[in-house]
Amino acid sequence: MNRHEPVAIVGAGIAGLTAALSFARKGISAEIFERTAILSEAGAGLQLSPNATRILTTLGLLPQLQNVWSEPQAVTLVSGVSLKTIASVPSGAFARNRWRAPYGVLHRADLQKTLLDAVKANPLCRLHLGTEIDDTTQHAIAGMIGSQPRLVVGADGVWSKIRKQIEGAGKARFSANVAWRFTLSETEAPVFFDTTKVSAFLGSGSHLVVYPLQRARNFNVVAITSGADTGQSWDNSLPPQTSRQRLLEAFAGWHAQIIDMLRHAVEPTVWPLYQVNDGAWNQGENVVLIGDAAHAMMPFAAQGAAMAIEDAFELASFVAAGKPLAAFADHRKSRVARVRSRGAFNRFAYHARGPVRLGRDLVLSMRRPESLAADFDWLYGYEPED
Ligand SMILES: Cc1cc2nc3c(=O)[nH]c(=O)nc-3n(C[C@H](O)[C@H](O)[C@H](O)COP(=O)(O)OP(=O)(O)OC[C@H]3O[C@@H](n4cnc5c(N)ncnc54)[C@H](O)[C@@H]3O)c2cc1C
Repeated sequence: MNRHEPVAIVGAGIAGLTAALSFARKGISAEIFERTAILSEAGAGLQLSPNATRILTTLGLLPQLQNVWSEPQAVTLVSGVSLKTIASVPSGAFARNRWRAPYGVLHRADLQKTLLDAVKANPLCRLHLGTEIDDTTQHAIAGMIGSQPRLVVGADGVWSKIRKQIEGAGKARFSANVAWRFTLSETEAPVFFDTTKVSAFLGSGSHLVVYPLQRARNFNVVAITSGADTGQSWDNSLPPQTSRQRLLEAFAGWHAQIIDMLRHAVEPTVWPLYQVNDGAWNQGENVVLIGDAAHAMMPFAAQGAAMAIEDAFELASFVAAGKPLAAFADHRKSRVARVRSRGAFNRFAYHARGPVRLGRDLVLSMRRPESLAADFDWLYGYEPED
């Protein structure tokens, strides 16, 4: 392979920026095209599990990330009705020890800035902001960089245009679930919000995930419920009263303190959850998809960004080793399928009703934290191809 021939990466999200750094680490230059002129991220938090942080550490980003994230001591499941803890998986030093990498929670914009700074400082990476790539990709890119890229990487998210060029690719479909999100300052948060934990509050048909964002000194709150499609972006267009009313309806019957917290949430925004179903990820040896463009998934296992990071890193390894794109796609698809199944299981367990819920609580309460942690060894202990 000619290492001087660049790869073209469409999209400077988590997948695209990680891919650029991963290719550069293998000595392959990357031209990154991003449609927005300024990279700014809607204010959301992100959990980064050890399988993702192991890769970010290999890319040399751990010191920067440690400045902007916190490492929760545990991930707990809590009843949204009684506020009793159902189960707790240890994290913090335990995660570093068991999975040989940390578990961090941070603001998504902080991760993106960390990746972006590293890309800007890397002589093998060139970023073209304000440059939307459409269906004429190959020709358009060749014109802009003065040569034909050896590979086009579609890292352009759930609404990918590159995906449209791939015969047999999956399609984005609404999941009938929506995610609400907002932040709460530490001072206005209810006392049972814990700055040392990721807490998932569970109830019939809905759940609520809460974790601290260290730098902003606030809590990130994500509520996932069934709901109607609201379009392709975080939606502030619903009148505030309607938005709040829908949120409160989804949490009817929950603990009074949670309902009170939701009643006072400032500007909850709603995000329709789309998934990309299984389909082709590559077109011959020239075009390949990674991240949400390939496999956008529900956030029930909090693994979408982690899978984007794994895809990006392993794609560079496969390409540098001269392995075919089809081999990369096969390798990644089996991993992503297993993660999706875990997400589907969580969805069933988190939103369980009636006797299923009682059974879930009983089974989980009987398991020791170490035994619960062992369930995640295949996911968090993953060693990517390098
Ligand atoms: C509520 C919620 C909570 C989540 N929580 C977690 C979590 O805790 N942990 C986790 O791992 N994951 C989580 N995820 C999933 C995670 O956010 C996504 O999987 C991840 O951000 C996908 O990254 P990406 O780079 O593939 O796509 P994106 O972030 O969508 O990036 C795509 C980029 O491509 C650009 N682009 C698009 N089209 C074009 C074009 N034609 N030309 C040029 N540029 C283009 C876009 O502007 C954007 O910058 C969550 C998701 C949701 C909805």
